[in-house]
Amino acid sequence: MSKRDYYEVLGIEKNATPEEIKKAYRKLARKYHPDVNKEAGAEEKFIEVKEAYEVLSDDSKRSQYDQFGHAGASGQGFGGFGGAQDFGGFGDIFDMFFGGGGGRRRDPNAPSQGADLQYTMVLDFEEAIFGKQVDINIPKEENCDTCNGSGAKPGTKPKTCSHCNGSGQLNQEQNTPFGKVVNRRVCHHCQGTGKIIPEKCNTCGGSGRVKKNKKININIPAGIDEGQQIRVAGKGEAGLNGGPAGDLFVVIQIRSHEFYEREGDNIYCELPVTFAQAALGDEMEVPTVHGKVKLKVPAGTQTGKTFRLRGKGAPNVRGRGQGDQYVKVRIMTPTNLTDKQKTLLREFNEIGGNESIDEQDGSFFQKFKNAFKNND
Ligand SMILES: [Zn+2]
Ligand SMILES: [Zn+2]
Repeated sequence: MSKRDYYEVLGIEKNATPEEIKKAYRKLARKYHPDVNKEAGAEEKFIEVKEAYEVLSDDSKRSQYDQFGHAGASGQGFGGFGGAQDFGGFGDIFDMFFGGGGGRRRDPNAPSQGADLQYTMVLDFEEAIFGKQVDINIPKEENCDTCNGSGAKPGTKPKTCSHCNGSGQLNQEQNTPFGKVVNRRVCHHCQGTGKIIPEKCNTCGGSGRVKKNKKININIPAGIDEGQQIRVAGKGEAGLNGGPAGDLFVVIQIRSHEFYEREGDNIYCELPVTFAQAALGDEMEVPTVHGKVKLKVPAGTQTGKTFRLRGKGAPNVRGRGQGDQYVKVRIMTPTNLTDKQKTLLREFNEIGGNESIDEQDGSFFQKFKNAFKNND
C-alpha cells in the first residue's frame, strides 16, 4: 500500500508552523473521529491523520520524515512511523476535544507503548560513506522473565486494588461553600496501577521490569550524514501490559577527516600544487575515498581553481545517485631555497618571468596597482 504524504494528509505546506500543523490536525481529527463520524472509511482517515500528526508534530520525527520520507520499504529501517503505534488511545483525543475531565480517562491496565530510546553512534568519515553493519549493546528495560512482567512472585497473582477497584484513581468528595466538589486523584494504594502485588517477584522487586544489555544489529546505510537518524522499529523499551515496544533511534555523528570535508553527498579537498607544476601544467594523482584518480592540471593554473571529480563523492543515502569530489588547487610557495635555486628565480624574474601576471585574471593585478593611486 502506498502511503500518502503526511503534509498532503493534513492539507498543509511543507514549511507549516507547529501551530498550523496542530490546527489542521484538530480540524480533521474532529471531522473523522470514529465517535463522531460513522461513515465508511472515516476511521481509516482518522488513523491516517493521527499518524501524520504524530510525525509532523515531533521535531525529530518531522526532520527525519523530511529527509527520508516514508521509505520504510527500503529495508533500512527508515521512516514508516506508525506501524507499531498505539491506536488504543482514541480516548486521549476525545478528552482533548470534548472537554476531558468528564467521563473518560485512561485505563491504567490498558496496553501502552514502551519508551523510545536514543543512541548516538560516532562513525569514521569513510564508514559513513560506505555504510556498515554493526552490533551495539544498549541497556534497556525488558519485561522480567521470572514473573513475565507481572511483578508477582511465580505462583501468585497481582490483585485488583480494593481502594480504587482497579481504576487507579480515587474520587474524593469535598464540601466547599459552593457545594460538593469531587476531586479525582491517583490512588496512592496502588500508585495508579489499579493492582496490588501481595507477594513480590524476587528478581525485579515487583516492578515487572529489569534492565538488560541487549545486542542489536544496526545497518548503517552508505552515504549517511551527520545528524541523521536510523529508526529501528520495536527495539526501544518493552511495552506495558502487552503493549508494543518503543523504537530505537540511532543518531549519527561523523568524525572529521584530516584531508576531506563533506557537505551533503559531495566531498571537498585541497590539492597542493607546486609553483612549477601550476605554471607548466602536470598530470597529478589525487586521493579519493574510492581510490586514487589522475587529474590533469593545465599550464597556468591559479590557486583556488577547483576541479570536479564526477562520482567520487558519497552515495546518496536515499539511493539517488552519487556525489562528486571537488578539488581546490593550493599553490605551495617553496621555502628554504638553495643558493642555486635563488639565483635561478632571480634570473627568471629578470628575464620577465612575471610579466604575464599583468594581463591575467580580469587584470586583478592592474586593479591592485590602481589601488595605490589613492595612497600617493
Ligand atoms: Zn519479576
Ligand atoms: Zn488503587
